[in-house]
Amino acid sequence: MSYSVVNPKYCKGCLRCVGVCPKKCLALSGSTNSAGYDYVEFKKGAESDCTGCAVCRLVCPDVAITVYKNETVESA
Ligand code: SF4
Ligand code: SF4
Repeated sequence: MSYSVVNPKYCKGCLRCVGVCPKKCLALSGSTNSAGYDYVEFKKGAESDCTGCAVCRLVCPDVAITVYKNETVESA
């Protein structure tokens, strides 16, 4: 099982990760962080779709994403 975790504190809601995820696992959360940005989150249940490809992590300019590929951490 693979998944990614977005740190709401660092996300600026730029949507780069949402646009590149080939499995559409990421979406705006609808909540706002302390800096006033609507941040992205990993969709509930998307673990069955996420491949752990880490493209989301690679495109994030704010290093807000950690990917767990088959439970191994792919950190920035
Ligand atoms: S690791 Fe790949 S499949 Fe999983 S959320 Fe990131 S871009 Fe999408
Ligand atoms: S690429 Fe990074 S900063 Fe932009 S929406 Fe995704 S997690 Fe947030």
